[in-house]
Amino acid sequence: NLARTGGTDRGSLPIMNNEGRIVAFFDWEPNRPGLAMLRQTGPALAAAFAVAAILVFLLLRQLHRSSAMLEAGRRHAEHQAAHDRLTGLPNRMGFDVHLARVLTDRETMNANLSLLMLDLDRFKQVNDTLGHQAGDQLICTVGKRIRAVVGQEMMIARLGGDEFAILVVSSSSAPDVTVLAANIIEAINQPFELNHFKAHVGVSIGIVTANSSNAEPRELVRKADIALYEAKACGRNRAVFYEEQMNEMLQLRHTIEGELREALMRNDQLSVAFQPLIDQHSRKVIGAEALARWHHPKYGQISPARFIPAAENTGLIEALGEFVLRRACTLGAAAPGRTIAVNISPTQLRNPSFSVQVFDILHETGMR
Ligand code: GH3
Ligand code: MG
Repeated sequence: NLARTGGTDRGSLPIMNNEGRIVAFFDWEPNRPGLAMLRQTGPALAAAFAVAAILVFLLLRQLHRSSAMLEAGRRHAEHQAAHDRLTGLPNRMGFDVHLARVLTDRETMNANLSLLMLDLDRFKQVNDTLGHQAGDQLICTVGKRIRAVVGQEMMIARLGGDEFAILVVSSSSAPDVTVLAANIIEAINQPFELNHFKAHVGVSIGIVTANSSNAEPRELVRKADIALYEAKACGRNRAVFYEEQMNEMLQLRHTIEGELREALMRNDQLSVAFQPLIDQHSRKVIGAEALARWHHPKYGQISPARFIPAAENTGLIEALGEFVLRRACTLGAAAPGRTIAVNISPTQLRNPSFSVQVFDILHETGMR
């Protein structure tokens, strides 16, 4: 039976006689080795703990600083990767990210979106005559002039070389894209002061307008590029809106060789039209000029201005020329005394066996 007396850490045990009365206490001071050890080592332990706490604090602070530096470095690297060094504008990567974000952003859903693709006209001349550095300076100034026209809100990117892109997310207060493009062309047409020389460049612009909820980024860029190509082909220094038929024509440009090759092998697409030749005194038909025509099942009537150059580039003009000549001679044989004119490509004339081919066809059709 252990009891604590007087609040001290002492042990005490009552001793009783036979009648059960306490006659004495057995009292002792217990041996507490743990406490003794704690008293001896306590201050040292506390000091060690404090040092450890300080160390941990310093470590955490260093870690925080390092991660902040890493974060700043990461952000800097990210910015560098998405921006063009020369103009400070977003580059193609930055533009792609921004475009994708705009298209998925709920707030801009159902807003009208216009993408303007710009390419300077005859910019290489500036590089060639005034040097690459002057060209760089011009590109920088172009970036600033575009910014001055479109304001701070719109995204301008330098996609590379002399190519820029502008993204217009239209709200009701947004400017008319046609007016915007005209203003940009006017601003770029102003002379550039480079190394004490004046330089002039133009700019061609391809525009595609879409509803942001149904637009796919790559498709938008492709269409704006097609319109830009058309702006260049139509004489440069102008803005052209994308139209669906441009896409079809482009598709055709890529496939025209294959399509023409196939058309030459079958007899339901190519034909020869005969344009009458009329004697201006007698007013009588004296003959006809044979003209190649191509009616494509998908693209409809294709202009000879498109397929003749393609035929000349690929050597298909030989077969096409032979086809037209044979048709013309067949008609000529049926109408003796009439003149039949056939257009011959220089490519055909360069072929040493061309005359043999002509005589063969004359013989075969019975034309004089
Ligand atoms: P086009 O009218 O058909 O657009 O012809 P262009 O002379 O403008 O030439 P194009 O657009 O086909 O090519 C752009 C040229 O810009 C190609 C290259 O010589 C030049 N270029 C590309 N990047 C830079 C650049 O960072 N600095 C400079 N100074 N020139 C560049
Ligand atoms: Mg150019």
